[in-house]
Order: sequence, then structure tokens, then C-alpha cells
Amino acid sequence: MNPARILIVDDERVVCTGCEKILGEAGYQVKSTLSATKALDILKEEPFDIMITDLKMPELSGMELLKIIREMYPEIMVIVITGYSTVETAVEAMKLGAFDYLPKPFTSEEVSAVVNRSLDKRHQEREAKILRQEREKNLQEVTGEMQRIKTIINSMASGVLVIDRANHIIMSNPAATNMLGTKDTQLVGKLLSHYIKEDKLRQLKYGSDDFHSSGISAISIEFAIEDGGASRFLRAQATPVKSGVGKMLGAVIVLEDITSLKEIDRRKTDFLEIVAHELRAPLAAIAQQLMVVRDGLAGEITEKQREIIGRVKERSDSLLNLTSNLLELSKIEEGRVALTKEHLDLNELLLKVLDLFSAQAEARGVSLQFKGEKELPLVDADLSQIEMVCINLLSNGIKYNREGGIVKVKTGAEGEWVKIEVSDTGVGITPEDLDRVFDKFYRVNSEETRKVVGSGIGLSLAKRIIEMHAGRIEARSTFGKGSTFTFFLPRKDGISARTEGIK
Ligand code: ADP
Repeated sequence: MNPARILIVDDERVVCTGCEKILGEAGYQVKSTLSATKALDILKEEPFDIMITDLKMPELSGMELLKIIREMYPEIMVIVITGYSTVETAVEAMKLGAFDYLPKPFTSEEVSAVVNRSLDKRHQEREAKILRQEREKNLQEVTGEMQRIKTIINSMASGVLVIDRANHIIMSNPAATNMLGTKDTQLVGKLLSHYIKEDKLRQLKYGSDDFHSSGISAISIEFAIEDGGASRFLRAQATPVKSGVGKMLGAVIVLEDITSLKEIDRRKTDFLEIVAHELRAPLAAIAQQLMVVRDGLAGEITEKQREIIGRVKERSDSLLNLTSNLLELSKIEEGRVALTKEHLDLNELLLKVLDLFSAQAEARGVSLQFKGEKELPLVDADLSQIEMVCINLLSNGIKYNREGGIVKVKTGAEGEWVKIEVSDTGVGITPEDLDRVFDKFYRVNSEETRKVVGSGIGLSLAKRIIEMHAGRIEARSTFGKGSTFTFFLPRKDGISARTEGIK
């Protein structure tokens, strides 16, 4: 580090030479002058860290010199020498910005001490200044960054809402306001239930609470918004926001307008409904005629012919089943299904469905297990629809299993929900396919699934049915190891009456 530079200004030569000697020997770079005006000339030429100046000088007094220095060279530390002046003069000089004063006569130790003090002070001030500048720079950067992010979010075509744990909106963008069809200009501070119906929201809210424990990364729901007499459809995808230590803070919801997609979907459904409807009657007639032939009512047939006709009948039954599923799905999608709700005991329903599948499971070498929660809360649901969901999930668990595999059905209560879990030890689903298994007609195209007969609508139908009941369904899987399908239905107040047969 360069030695500090010190300028001595005093009209008494002896003071100048004395100070020059003391400070020069202490390793400083020292210069001296007998007049204040000369001092100003020197300062124009070279920089100094400290100036030690007398107060009483001809031409320009030390006090005036001090004022000029504070204005022109604020970084220089000024020490005033007070000779015959009073203490008040020293105080006045300090008020004008002098760092310290040195009463005459002074010893060499006193000069060195005051210089050291002023250098320390100067160092501290410099450090503080650097810190201040850095802080200002950081603040500017943060503000700039926040502004940039805000601009990006505000120009997004998708709606963005950020909610806290209590479902208050804490941030929104103009696209979200547009999509929600609200006249409110300010969404921040409002409850999300102002804009999304309570029953739909429950699916998201449930998700928010459950994200943490279950490790779910995002939950998606679709809902309709009435906008000036016309319906628009939105898809909301909620992703949890967690603190550094994993505590749930809220969620980010991204909204997309899917009205046009829904319209295309509706036309496809209409077409499929016509096809399914037209196929149904001839298929039923074929099945009936086949029964007549198989049972020998149209004349004697050989054992081989009976076996072949049996296989044809099986295939035509599965086609008939497909048409039923298709018709059911289109009815649901068109909103033409009126649910006949009753108080259901899901333990009882599942035991019945498991019974239905026992022969099929045995034939495939798969064992069925049931673990029902005793005193399971009842649900308010449509028996035939929920039965269809359970049939689809169990049938998949067996179909996509392996010889010696297991399908486990578990029931339980979780907060305000009844939870049904169907897990298997089958072929599993890759993460990419898992995102799509609930899509209509989606089938995994792999070596192991290709040989399994299916249409790809069972799960999409199950999802629609569960959502019609204000519940939700989700899938988890480890490829090659097995899958778990879980659905949740809102609980009723009563509890399951039947506990016998529950393991
Ligand atoms: P499908 O009639 O083809 O079984 P689904 O809608 O029930 O139609 O299922 C869609 C696809 O998801 C299936 O084709 C299959 O690839 C996959 N899938 C469904 N359930 C399981 C399961 N338990 N294990 C592995 N894959 C499954």
C-alpha cells in the first residue's frame, strides 16, 4: 500500500520543517507550504490524504482554506493547528468539517497520534462508502430484476395467480383477470373462491395441503366460467410453493383457456357417440345369435366349433363393453348424466367388485388383497358410477400385472376425504406415460401392454366420474415395479356399518 500523503500548511517555517521531519521519519509522504493559496495550487497538481493547517495565516486564513477543501476535496482529512486561538475557534473548525485539532505547541507523539487517528477514520469512511455503494447497486439490481420478472409475467398469454396458504391471491397478471371474466381490477387480497367455485377449489385446496406429504408436484383441474351468457372452459394447474425448509407457503396457479380444445373434443365425442350407438344394436344381435349357435339351439356343433364360437363371443362382448363405455363417457361429457346419489359404503362396494374379479384374477395367477378401514366414513355418490370406476381400476391392476403378482385394495379416511387405493405389482408406467394415462384413448405402447386388450377410455371415464363427485384421482407408478391409483371422495357424516370381512 502506498504511504499516506500529508500536506502541511503553516506560515511558521519551523512548524513546517518540524512536522515534515516527524512524519517523514514515520514513513509518510510529506509536503509543506507557508501559505494557504500555495496550498491550493499544490492540491491542483497532486492528491493528498491529510492536510494539517494553521488557522492564522496572512492572505487566506486556515478557516477559509478549510471551507474550500471541504467543498473541493471532501475526501481529505483536515487537522487544524490552533496556536494562540481559543478553544472556540477549534470547535468552529470542527463544525466546518475538520477532523481534529492540534494545539500549539505539540510534541512529535501528538502529531503522529492525530495523523494515525485521522487515517483510521478515513479508512472507515472509505469502507462504509464502498459498502453503501454496493448495497445501492444490489438494491438497483434486485428492483430491476423484480421489474423484469413482473413485465414477463404481465405479458404472458397464460393467466398466473399466486395464492397463500389461506387461498388469498397475492399476485395476478392481466391474462388471469381476463380469463376469469371478472370486472375487478384488483385481484390481490381477494379469496380465490371469489373467482373459482368452491367445489372445484376444494380439489385444488386439498392438493395444496396434500402436496407436502404426498410429494405431488402439480394438480390440474378444468372448470367452466360464465362470461356474458357464453361458457368458457379453463384449465388451472396448481404447483406448490415451498420454503427452503420444505414448508408449504402457497401455490402458483397457471390458467389456460381451453374453450376451443373443448369444442373440438365435443365434436369428436358426438361422432363417437353416433358410431357407438350404431354399433351397439348389431353387436348385441351378433352376441345373441352366437349364444344360440354355441348352445346348440341351431343344431349340433362340435367341441372345437363351440370353443371358437366362445372366443368370438368373448371378443364381441368386449366390443359391446367398449360401446357402453363410449356412450357413458359422451353422456358425461355432454353433461347428460344425472347422478343418483345415495349414502355409499365403499368397503362394501369394493368387496363386491373384488368378488366379481376373483375368477379372472385366479386365471391370470394374480392374488387379490383387501385392507379396509374399519368404520370408514360413508360417501354421497352414485353407486353404478363408482362401481364402474372400481371395476376399471381393478381390471387394469389385473390386466397389467404379471403371473404371481398382487393387486391390493386399501380404503381409509383422510381429513374430509375417503381415500381408495388400488395398487399392483405389475408392469408399471413411465413418468412420461403417467402424465397421459387419464387422457381419452391413450394407451401405453410397449412390448408388455400391446398384448393386453383395451381401448384407453377406462381411466378417462374414471376421472370424469370422480370429478363429477367433486373428488379427484391420481396415479403413481414405478416403471417395471407397479402402479397405484388413488381416488378421493368427500366424506359424509355417517360411517361404514359393515366391518365384517374387512382384513
Ligand atoms: P385400457 O382399456 O387400455 O386399459 P385405460 O384408460 O384403463 O385403458 O388405461 C390407459 C392406459 O394406461 C392403458 O392402456 C395402460 O397402458 C395404462 N395403465 C392403466 N392402468 C395400468 C396399470 N395398473 N399398470 C400399468 N399400466 C396401466
